[in-house]
Amino acid sequence: MLSTYVYPHFDYLTPAELHGGARRRHPVIVVGAGPVGLATAIDLAQQGMPVLLLDDDASVSVGSRGVCYAKRTLEVLDRLGVGDRCFAKGVSWNVGRTFFREHEVYNFQLLSQPDHKRPGMINLQQYYLEEFLVRRAQELPGIDLRWQNRVVGVQQEGQDGEGGVTLQVETPDGVYALACDWLIVADGARSSIRRMLKLEVEGKVFMDRFLIADVVMKADFPAERWFWFDPPFHPGQSVLLHRQADNVWRIDFQLGWQADPDEEQKPEKVMPRIKAMLGEDREFELEWVSVYTFQCRRMSSFRQQRVLFVGDAAHQVSPFGARGANSGIQDADNLVWKLKLVIDGQAPDSLLDSYGEEREFAADENLLNSTRSSDFISPKSKTSLSFRNAVLTLARKYPFARALVNSGRLSVPAFLCGSSLNTHDGEAFNGQMWPGAAMDDAPIREQGRDGWLLDAVGEHFMLLCSVDDPAAVNASTMAVFSALAAAPVPVEAVLLASGGGAAGAGLRVFEDCRGRYAERYDARPGTVYLLRPDQHIAARWRRLDAAAVAAALTRAIGKH
Ligand SMILES: Cc1cc2nc3c(=O)[nH]c(=O)nc-3n(C[C@H](O)[C@H](O)[C@H](O)COP(=O)(O)OP(=O)(O)OC[C@H]3O[C@@H](n4cnc5c(N)ncnc54)[C@H](O)[C@@H]3O)c2cc1C
Repeated sequence: MLSTYVYPHFDYLTPAELHGGARRRHPVIVVGAGPVGLATAIDLAQQGMPVLLLDDDASVSVGSRGVCYAKRTLEVLDRLGVGDRCFAKGVSWNVGRTFFREHEVYNFQLLSQPDHKRPGMINLQQYYLEEFLVRRAQELPGIDLRWQNRVVGVQQEGQDGEGGVTLQVETPDGVYALACDWLIVADGARSSIRRMLKLEVEGKVFMDRFLIADVVMKADFPAERWFWFDPPFHPGQSVLLHRQADNVWRIDFQLGWQADPDEEQKPEKVMPRIKAMLGEDREFELEWVSVYTFQCRRMSSFRQQRVLFVGDAAHQVSPFGARGANSGIQDADNLVWKLKLVIDGQAPDSLLDSYGEEREFAADENLLNSTRSSDFISPKSKTSLSFRNAVLTLARKYPFARALVNSGRLSVPAFLCGSSLNTHDGEAFNGQMWPGAAMDDAPIREQGRDGWLLDAVGEHFMLLCSVDDPAAVNASTMAVFSALAAAPVPVEAVLLASGGGAAGAGLRVFEDCRGRYAERYDARPGTVYLLRPDQHIAARWRRLDAAAVAAALTRAIGKH
């Protein structure tokens, strides 16, 4: 098989502990350098937290796994310093088309509005995503990334884990021990640490098999997601087509539960399937073939005292909807600022319970959507199949039926509206920027330079205050801003104005140059938004009230 990608090999170095180095206790150890562990370690290091990252392998993910990375994930990757690389290498798309037999029955647009920095989705092979993250991790002095370091033992120490966590780690040079205050587990769906700690993961296995064929070909199909139900070239089953980087096209063929996975991967079985789809004359080469099944399940609690589970180790979904790595990277985004505040003694330990609360909620939403998609794609009974086909037939003509077509509801961030960290609205607002929502992007201009709102906020608490004239902010408001900046958990106040302008006392001013901020946030002069470090809304008001901001901040850091 042809491979256009050259897998990097990352060097193993004998750990200092194995040649007599002093054993010290690490504040944080992350296990697993997949996309989620890497994102977590980078975020920690960017926030000034030293981190030890262990992985049992010496390269990136082999073969074809994750493809689609959603807008929200790209925004997190921007904050982690790899958004541009992923965007430049990936294939951007916003349109998805669904076909039933010979006909298109439905299409959707992921981003209905212009003026967002990132597209609805990009397609990028997972090995590229991981390689870009590894390169970024290597740039950061705070990360000690150790390859071929497999965790083989784990214990929580002391009552309630108060004594931290100890690990036994196996390397080519032998086994050594490590100790840490906090352990973040990102060791994937088969998490050996979850097993070692005797923790359960609950859910179900889907009785279906899918063939992945990655083919290299030059084709002028548009950069769109195409999904077929019961196409003439693969009757009775479904097929999904995605274009990835380097002219690699990913095709997922549904096979049914009875299919023999070993037989199905043989070229003599795979090639006719692809030729039936692409036509006999199309030139292509196979890059990768595999057969997968999937599970939809999660741990009941992502926090286990001083052990925090993220990504596939905590939850797994079907690939339809692209919610695996996307949601895992959003776990990291949610966890790291909280852990940093707790380690720095600025927030109570209970803030970490809100990591579980918020991301278990998000996982349930992902599981629900992913299970519904799987049920629509693989009907479990003749009745369900008849219903599914009736919906697809009606969808060609009738808009009401299109809403029922489900070839995978694609990853969007969860609205954490029920979170205990939110302060509920006391005034009326239009739109969707409710407390708990992940922020919408908007074009802004700062000091004459065009930019994006989401590139300008995050990693610490911020207060966005809409004003008419930045130069006219009065002394009492300035005093509130100064007090917030000097608070134990500092809050940076920034002014937003439709016409821009300069403010006193070194305050930043964002010009809402195309009016999108006002529109998306239903903001008018006086409106104030309190933002969390992970770009979620904590609270909002129609006028600045120092006591209300202080109370909302207290709540947002888990002090109730
Ligand atoms: C067919 C398919 C299609 C998919 N499509 C998408 C998609 O389009 N979009 C999307 O977002 N997601 C998709 N996913 C899901 C995505 O691949 C996973 O969600 C993602 O890889 C999870 O990342 P992770 O870092 O949690 O775990 P992993 O990627 O599994 O990484 C775990 C890491 O931990 C290491 N490790 C394991 N055990 C140990 C140990 N004991 N000690 C040290 N290191 C250890 C492993 O070597 C590995 O590097 C797809 C998955 C499949 C199978």
